[in-house]
Amino acid sequence: MGIANCRSCGGNDLRVILDLGSQPIANALLGEEELSRPEAKFPLAVAFCPACALLQVTETVPPDILYRRDYPYFSSSSPALLKHSAEHVEALVAKYELGPRSFVVEVASNDGYLLRNFVERGIGCLGIDPADGPVARANDSGVPTIHDFFGSQCAEKLASEGKLADVMIANNVVAHVDDINNFVAGFARLLKPTGVAVFEFAYALDMVERCEFDTIYHEHLFYHTLHGLTPLFRRHGLYLNDVERLPIHGGSLRLTVSRKSTRSAELDALFAHEAALGVDKVSFYNDFAERVRSLRGSLADLLLSEKAKGKRIACYGAAAKGATLVNYLDLGENFFEFVADANPYKHGKYMPGQRIPIRHPDQLMADQPDYVLLLVWNFAGEVMRQQATYRERGGSFIIPVPEPCVVPPGALIDETQFAIFPTHPPLGSRAP
Ligand SMILES: [Zn+2]
Repeated sequence: MGIANCRSCGGNDLRVILDLGSQPIANALLGEEELSRPEAKFPLAVAFCPACALLQVTETVPPDILYRRDYPYFSSSSPALLKHSAEHVEALVAKYELGPRSFVVEVASNDGYLLRNFVERGIGCLGIDPADGPVARANDSGVPTIHDFFGSQCAEKLASEGKLADVMIANNVVAHVDDINNFVAGFARLLKPTGVAVFEFAYALDMVERCEFDTIYHEHLFYHTLHGLTPLFRRHGLYLNDVERLPIHGGSLRLTVSRKSTRSAELDALFAHEAALGVDKVSFYNDFAERVRSLRGSLADLLLSEKAKGKRIACYGAAAKGATLVNYLDLGENFFEFVADANPYKHGKYMPGQRIPIRHPDQLMADQPDYVLLLVWNFAGEVMRQQATYRERGGSFIIPVPEPCVVPPGALIDETQFAIFPTHPPLGSRAP
C-alpha cells in the first residue's frame, strides 16, 4: 500500500527522489514450480520528507508477502561479520565496563552470532528475533533468545519482568520496521535510566554519494541520516550521543543514543558535515536519480559489449541488493549464466524477476565464466579471496558501484575485511 504520510513525523509533503519502477520482492526466491506463474510486483520508490528529513520508500508491502522467505539466513555464515561483531562487543565491554551484573539486549539477534561474545564473558544477555530457525539455533548454542517482533509491547513485557538493559544493540534493523515510532518507543521503555542503545545501519549519505541504489528494496523502508533520526529519537525522549562511520555494507553508521543529551565531537562534526551538504533539503537529492540512470547505462553497456564478444557472465550473491540491481538492469532472462551463492538453502532456486538460477560457488570453478558481476560488492574482499582459484584461472570480477569497474585476475585486493572497493584499474582496462 502506498503511503501518504511520513512514517516518522506524519508530514504529508513527501517528495519522490528516485523511482525504480515496479519490482518483485527482492528476497522472494522462486522454486522451479513457481516459474510458470507471474510474480507479484510493487512500486519501488524513495521519498524525502521535508518536515523531518527522513528518506523512506513510498510503498509498504504487507509483511505476509514481504517476509514469505522460505529459507533461513544465518548471520554466522559470514566470517567477516563474525569478526566485526567480536570487535564491537570487545569495545562495548571496555567502554561501559560491562560485567556479570550487566544486562545486554539485542534486537534482531539472528542466530546469536553477536551475543555469544557476551555469553562467553559471563555477561547476561537476551536476544529477540522474529525468525524461528535462527532463534532455535541461538538457544541451542546457549544464547538466550525469544521469538518475537520488537516494539513497545515486547519492551513493556520485558520491563515488567525487571529485564531493563544497560546496553541495547540493534544492527541492520532500524531501516526495516514500518511502525518506527513504536519501535523506538520500545528502546526508550527497556533502557535503564543510565542505559545506552547502539544502532548500526547503512548510511544514506554514503548511499547517495556512492550511487548505491541497489541497497534500496521493499524491506528497507528507511534510509537514515543523522538529520532524519534526530527528531525521531527526540520524540521518544532519546538523544543522539555519539557516532562512528564504518566501512561495512558500503558505508554504515554506528550510532549511540541515550536519555543524556551529551554529544561527542564526532557527532557534532558529522552533523555539521550533513548540514553543510544540505541533506535536510530536497535539493541535495536532485541529481541522485540521474546518476543512478547513468550508472545503469554504463553497466549495461559494459555487460552487453562483453556478451557480444561471446564472453560468458555469471553473478555472485543472490542477496536482496542483487535483485534490485539485476531487475533494474533488466537485461532479460538467460543473460547471466547463473548466480553463485554460499547459502545452501538457496541452491536450485531462482532470483526473482530476472529468474537467474542459483548455484553453489564451486560452479564458478566448474564453468569458469569470463566475468562475475559481484552483486554483493559489500563483501568484495571476502568473496574475491574465497574465489582465488577462479581468479587465478583468468576469471574477472565486475564491481557495479559506485561506477562499474573490472577487476582483472591479477589485481590486488584490499585486505580490509569489508573491502568496499578493491584496488582496481579504471573502467576500460580489461582482462586479457
Ligand atoms: Zn517526516
